[in-house]
Amino acid sequence: MDTYDVIVIGAGPAGYHAAIRAAQLGLNTACIEKWIGKSGKPVFGGTCLNVGCIPSKALLDASHKYAEARDHFAEIGIMTGDLSVDVPAMISRKDDVVTKLTGGVSALFKSNGVTALEGSAKLLANRVVEFTPHDGAASQLTAEHVVIATGSVPVDIPPCPLVDEVVVDSTGALEFQAVPKRLGIIGAGVIGLELGSVWARLGSEVVVLEALPDFMPALDKQIARETAKQLGRQGLDIRLGTRVTGSTVKGDTVEVTFTDGDGDHEEVFDKLIVAVGRKPYTEGLFAADAGVNMDEGGFVFVDEFCNTEAPGICAVGDVVRGPMLAHKGMEEGIMVAERIAGHKPAVNYDCVPGVIYTHPEVAWVGRSEQECKAAGEDVNVGMFPFAASGRALASNDTDGLIKVVADAETDRVLGVHMVGPHVSELIAEAVIAMEFESSAEDLGLTMFAHPTLSESLHEAALAVSGHAIHVAPRKRRKK
Ligand code: FAD
Ligand code: AMP
Repeated sequence: MDTYDVIVIGAGPAGYHAAIRAAQLGLNTACIEKWIGKSGKPVFGGTCLNVGCIPSKALLDASHKYAEARDHFAEIGIMTGDLSVDVPAMISRKDDVVTKLTGGVSALFKSNGVTALEGSAKLLANRVVEFTPHDGAASQLTAEHVVIATGSVPVDIPPCPLVDEVVVDSTGALEFQAVPKRLGIIGAGVIGLELGSVWARLGSEVVVLEALPDFMPALDKQIARETAKQLGRQGLDIRLGTRVTGSTVKGDTVEVTFTDGDGDHEEVFDKLIVAVGRKPYTEGLFAADAGVNMDEGGFVFVDEFCNTEAPGICAVGDVVRGPMLAHKGMEEGIMVAERIAGHKPAVNYDCVPGVIYTHPEVAWVGRSEQECKAAGEDVNVGMFPFAASGRALASNDTDGLIKVVADAETDRVLGVHMVGPHVSELIAEAVIAMEFESSAEDLGLTMFAHPTLSESLHEAALAVSGHAIHVAPRKRRKK
């Protein structure tokens, strides 16, 4: 039986980070991955690289460039003449990006000495892993430590079963070969809004059907309001309090039934995207005596250091509690590898940034003003609109704002919430500030280059104590 120090099951962001870090630390490491890519060949990188973060961003960036050229270039003196979209070319370029990056993971495995095993894994008792290669018979491997990183898959809902190329999940929505005239999306979550943005920019009439009465209830309320307003202006028809109850494919179209405050309705779409969330993936993964337990949501049950209840087995990424985000899984993967090697790192779950890659982008870290107040905490809030940023104005990109929430007594930054241009990048500054337990004043005392969008974070931090320079103070707190 082949023996390793560490076997990682799954080569998504959580698993491949765990495997590479373990190998860097001198541990004899194997990573088992069963994904077959679009080309029919085994690939590494998991959901994130193959059908998640990367392909969605490739299409978001391409469609944003098109929409900018169509809707805003003339405003800055660039005349384009006729503009058109070649959807198959856009999809094919997206595939090239995916291929480059998944190949990169294979290369990193090779250069770091990770044994890459293509096929599926099943965990048996006592850290024995049954490995079945794509083209061969099962064998047994054993390891001192096993890391479960099997990720997640889209949730399906009984009223709307997937139907080839008409009713699709997020994976299918990255493959349309033409712009649907009318596109229905079930779920106004992060994935629904990002995919809706892609196809709306390219010309679809997009209707988003969301069961909840509030838009993005987890966001800071002010940021959520601004985001809904901006997406509405772009033509996304987001209908809240609307529960989808069924769908019937009729030829090339799909008839969708839904219920809202006014009763039952029916509408016809050319395509329907089911984007109602993701669930942990553990199908066929555990033998009955593997010793690993799940929680009520089907997530592998782990402690704060990602240890399961079975000795020597840990689990990381989407398959365990916490936000289903690639970077959260990456940090967990690195943490478990380092803990296996005897180091003592921990993941700071209070500083996990969230991003929605719409335009404007939405990004946040820490707690919202409403969450703090609901917990009885007294907070000061500073805000700065991008409309008052010289750089945003120069870039013709002024929608949105930044909001800093700080403890009223200690001034410590408790949360930063943004909607605006490039805030997926700006949020890193807030994450660093919070990691270093910065006060709003510390941020205010830091020098930011001019003219940059980052200055808006500086100004929002100054606004906490009423000292922002480029905006009228809401309420002056200190002289
Ligand atoms: P996964 O990436 O799901 O990888 C798990 C891997 O395990 C898979 O490759 C699977 O084949 C393999 N596996 C499972 N079972 C077995 C087995 N028994 N044997 C062998 N291999 C197995 N997150 C962000 O942070 N930013 C974004 O912008 C973002 N955009 C997204 C857009 C879309 C459309 C989607 C769908 C997701 C997006 N996400 C984003 C979420 C992100 O993709 C996930 O959080 C991330 O991929 C989770 O990483 P993971 O390693 O835990 O699992
Ligand atoms: P997320 O979990 O962030 O990806 O968001 C998925 C969204 O889909 C949630 O806001 C759910 O309320 C929504 N949702 C789930 N089922 C339905 C349904 N049948 N009709 C409309 N919205 C739904």
